[in-house]
Amino acid sequence: MRMVLSALDTYAATLFIVVSLTIFGRKLYLRIRYLFLAKGQERRWDHVPTRLKNFIVYGIFQRKVAREWYAGVLHSFIFWAFVILGASVVEITAQAYASGWQVPTPSIAGFSLNGPLYLAEEVIAVLGAVGVGMALYRRYVIRPKKLMHEGMLDATIVLLFILGIVTSLLLYNAADIALGSAALPAWKPISSTLVRLSIIPADPSWWHLFWWTHVVLLFSFLAYVPHSKHMHIIFAIVNTFFMDLTPSGAIKKADLEKTETFGVSRVEQLSWRQLLDGYACTECGRCTDACPANATGKPLNPMRIITNMRDTLDAQGAAILAGKVEGLPDMFETVHSKEGIWACTTCYACVYECPVMNEHVPKIIEMRRHMVLTQGEMPPETRDAMRNIEQNFNPWGIGWDQRARWAEGLGIPMMAEATSAQGIEVLYWVGCAASFDDRNRKVAQAFARILQKAGVRFAILGPEEKCTGDPPRRLGNEYLAQTMIMGNVETLNRYGVTRIVATEVLQFLTYHDACYLGRYNDVYEEPRDVLYRIPGVRVVEMEKSRDRGFCCGAGGARMWMEERGEKVNHRRLSHIEETHANAVATACPYCLIMLDDAAKTKNREDIRRYDIAELLDRSL
Ligand code: SF4
Ligand code: SF4
Repeated sequence: MRMVLSALDTYAATLFIVVSLTIFGRKLYLRIRYLFLAKGQERRWDHVPTRLKNFIVYGIFQRKVAREWYAGVLHSFIFWAFVILGASVVEITAQAYASGWQVPTPSIAGFSLNGPLYLAEEVIAVLGAVGVGMALYRRYVIRPKKLMHEGMLDATIVLLFILGIVTSLLLYNAADIALGSAALPAWKPISSTLVRLSIIPADPSWWHLFWWTHVVLLFSFLAYVPHSKHMHIIFAIVNTFFMDLTPSGAIKKADLEKTETFGVSRVEQLSWRQLLDGYACTECGRCTDACPANATGKPLNPMRIITNMRDTLDAQGAAILAGKVEGLPDMFETVHSKEGIWACTTCYACVYECPVMNEHVPKIIEMRRHMVLTQGEMPPETRDAMRNIEQNFNPWGIGWDQRARWAEGLGIPMMAEATSAQGIEVLYWVGCAASFDDRNRKVAQAFARILQKAGVRFAILGPEEKCTGDPPRRLGNEYLAQTMIMGNVETLNRYGVTRIVATEVLQFLTYHDACYLGRYNDVYEEPRDVLYRIPGVRVVEMEKSRDRGFCCGAGGARMWMEERGEKVNHRRLSHIEETHANAVATACPYCLIMLDDAAKTKNREDIRRYDIAELLDRSL
């Protein structure tokens, strides 16, 4: 017997679907419209093949979600349920207009693919339900801290919607089979089992009830999605296509020719891609969970930067559209406090962990730029460091003419004095820390000795070398950063330098991964390779290592700022203590200073601190 819906059913269903689609479309339209309010420039249409690859790897196959296996499994069940059940949604809804209609599929040698499609739908419906069960168990029994925020209710509503949709699909199929009206029942084994077990009777009113339940849940869910955080279902996948393809963490140069304001203080000053982050956010809390500043009690919550930006856009979008921005609260009131923005070490852990490729650090830098360049504000303790860079081209404030003192007696030529007979092939870029910090000077000496033993013909710039501009740039002082960068570029061009070696690039106990070497440059194994080869050294890993390494606390110009509450470097020292290692090696001068400081302050000088170059120099 073929089941047919009445004309009244068709009218009622049509009305319901039209209203749901209107609610869905209106909100979606508004959100997209708000994206176009963005004034910041962003070019993300280049390198289409790479973008497509990222879209498949990170969007469709959700590689980053799977960094946590439990979340990876449950998300993949739910995600694929959405994808595969798309066909059944159309087919079941179409019953209101054409009884018995089936999704057209190609047939191979006379064999219709509808059967395998039904089987896939049944299996994925069950897996989708399992995924929902796992998600509810995680939220209500495991209760990881990162998920315990006010988004719980929304997440629960969405999960129950999904559970209702997949369950009503199976029940509808079962009622259809029981009445003998289903197409290809042999391909619907789970629904058939429900009939065999007499769970679903052959009763048209059950069939009718399940059809309506399925359709109402489906279209209510559709109307609900763009109003909830689950609009990431639509936008997250888009975000992966438009991810940043520049070298990890490269900070965009600010156009200082502009005469208006610098940096951002209002959401519409961000770029469309920055705003898209808000819609793509799943509120999974991974960014905040990985944040060293948050872990040590600083008022910084990277997830809030993203979600508050989205909510601000939502709240202010209509006024911005109407051009009535005067009097609207700025981002320091609605998105994140200034104190929190200054607490960031720019360690990149938040960006690295984000499964949907959101970019927290550029927003933080832009907000800092606004404070420094437009409002003339920066933490008072950083003023000395910035003044030192202006006057002596290094944050330590030691005379610029002292830069090469560490090299005295080592027979290292300077570029200005090198003769062509010396055949200089490489410039050793020493950096401020290795030039001026006593502890790191020893590292520079060790590194130079290694180069000499290796027969590398190298020279240094000596007093002509200047701060790279990295600390002022990360602090938001773009003007000073560009002044330093331009000075250095001019010097390098003058000497025609084509090859530079810095202490950090050497392949390199327990090993502390520097954020800028690791997450920014993907260098994890090379330093370990060196350590593994040093006789007498046994390497033990900290739990937070490699791409999950925990910041030392110095990045983002935090080295020059006061730190209140628990110190990030003290927390890192506790990670080292957990390994019971009696030495720690690193490959970054700033990390070395921070680890040194932590060991001294916490009376753990028995844990020796080395740069990897020193260990290698000794072993050679
Ligand atoms: S860059 Fe590091 S310190 Fe800054 S918000 Fe992200 S995780 Fe936190
Ligand atoms: S920004 Fe990314 S990591 Fe942070 S909560 Fe949103 S989706 Fe998760």
